[in-house]
Amino acid sequence: MRPVPAGQTDDASRLNAVPVDELWAIPESPRDAEQELAALLNRARQDQLPVSISGARHSMGGHTIAPGGIVINMLPFRGMSLDEDGAVLTVQAGALWSDVIPFLDRHGRSVAIMQSDSSFSVGGSLSVNVHGWQANRPPISSSVKAFSLLMADGRIVRCSRKENSQLFNLVLGGYGLFGIILEAELWTVPNEWYEVSRYSMPAERFSRAYQEHVREDEAAEMAFGRLRVTESGFLEDMILTVYRTTDQKTDSLPPLTASNLDPLRRTVFRGSVGSDYGKRLRWTLETRLGEKLGGRFVARNQLLDTDVSLFTNRKEEQTDILHEYFVPSNQFAAFLVHARDIIPRHGLDLLNVTVRDVQQDTETFMSYADQDMLALVMLFSQARTEAGEESMRDMTRELIDASLDLGGRYYLPYRPHATLDQFLQAYPQATEFVALKRAHDPGELFTNQFYDKYLSHLNMAAEEAPVSNRESGH
Ligand SMILES: Cc1cc2nc3c(=O)[nH]c(=O)nc-3n(C[C@H](O)[C@H](O)[C@H](O)COP(=O)(O)OP(=O)(O)OC[C@H]3O[C@@H](n4cnc5c(N)ncnc54)[C@H](O)[C@@H]3O)c2cc1C
Repeated sequence: MRPVPAGQTDDASRLNAVPVDELWAIPESPRDAEQELAALLNRARQDQLPVSISGARHSMGGHTIAPGGIVINMLPFRGMSLDEDGAVLTVQAGALWSDVIPFLDRHGRSVAIMQSDSSFSVGGSLSVNVHGWQANRPPISSSVKAFSLLMADGRIVRCSRKENSQLFNLVLGGYGLFGIILEAELWTVPNEWYEVSRYSMPAERFSRAYQEHVREDEAAEMAFGRLRVTESGFLEDMILTVYRTTDQKTDSLPPLTASNLDPLRRTVFRGSVGSDYGKRLRWTLETRLGEKLGGRFVARNQLLDTDVSLFTNRKEEQTDILHEYFVPSNQFAAFLVHARDIIPRHGLDLLNVTVRDVQQDTETFMSYADQDMLALVMLFSQARTEAGEESMRDMTRELIDASLDLGGRYYLPYRPHATLDQFLQAYPQATEFVALKRAHDPGELFTNQFYDKYLSHLNMAAEEAPVSNRESGH
């Protein structure tokens, strides 16, 4: 893949490259980090340069990029420690889960809530308020005990449910707009053996099956569904995979190692790009051989420790684009009826759909789960051309409408194709969010492309122009 030109930066979509004034890497040592960050923010204020914060940059809509500004790279800041009984991990925000998991593994512990892969930073994960395959759990915010935040005025404050609780709720899922998360305290869980079970079913039955096999089963710790994406039977069949605690397996837990099946999994997955034959092969392998290939038992840390590079695109002319829609469980089948119509009409290549549940999140300000939801995570392969962008934009807007009509929402870290009207329908709390951002960061020091597109002009839009007129094409 071609590198990003000097003086520019980009994110995982490789569709957002823009010039920036400076890419600044945080020092590793906490003392140096605090001093140098304070000086950096002073300089940014004096020179009126906007500041954005980046972790692993797997968001896809310029969420880590302040055009013309300073981009702080948090990745060098990755120290961690565990309290005496192993219950609370203290970790610097630039650490990746792939650093955290081996550390916790050595202590018999594991991450409580994270994404389905381990290539993301702690700070990025908290700022997006991620969720994963963890069953019967709200997003990651529910596993956060506290964090320290460097604010626009240079103060470092501790935020928890008791201290600066408003900031706690704004920063988790706040997309780096309230300051820099320096360090977080996260509750951990034991690393354990899980027994794997798989169930095949017509997609219409998934919601009931999930209720029965996961929500009503206390032993279910992790679970996800996968939808069929072949041309024939498109989004009609599903496999539900459930990981349950077990007393059947008493051997000591295995060391973390790369699976020798990884090269085969990548070949099969990438072989499905642009190929219905490849998609059929993958579905057949998963439905017929899934259990045999994957084994009956797996350690939790082994399951969490997957690098996204195992599956991601390496070709210059294409990019992998994620979408995610949250719908109430009882609307899951109705959403699929729309998706089966919308996606083929736009001719985009859908490679994968996994389905997870997210329990209601009543804490974070920009919560996407105002009730228990089923989340559909869709991975598309897109041409990096104007035509590819247009088709993706049009299809995304239709899928967002379908989810909104059913009382659902869409996820914010991906491509910014939603209209402002759709954004406000999905996140009506956004106007108040912006007012609070300005209260905590009056100079609007912390910005990014997501802020510029959906939030920076919001109060004005709300007062002076009907929001629905602000964006064409919807
Ligand atoms: C292949 C793939 C799979 C994914 N799977 C999942 C999934 O299973 N579940 C899920 O919920 N999401 C998933 N995502 C989305 C992903 O979790 C988010 O994009 C997340 O932000 C990535 O972490 P990051 O370190 O790359 O964050 P970045 O993209 O670097 O940053 C994201 C946001 O956090 C802010 N930020 C970063 N660090 C800090 C900090 N220290 N202080 C304050 N703000 C900060 C940034 O400014 C930005 O707004 C996936 C994305 C990809 C590409």
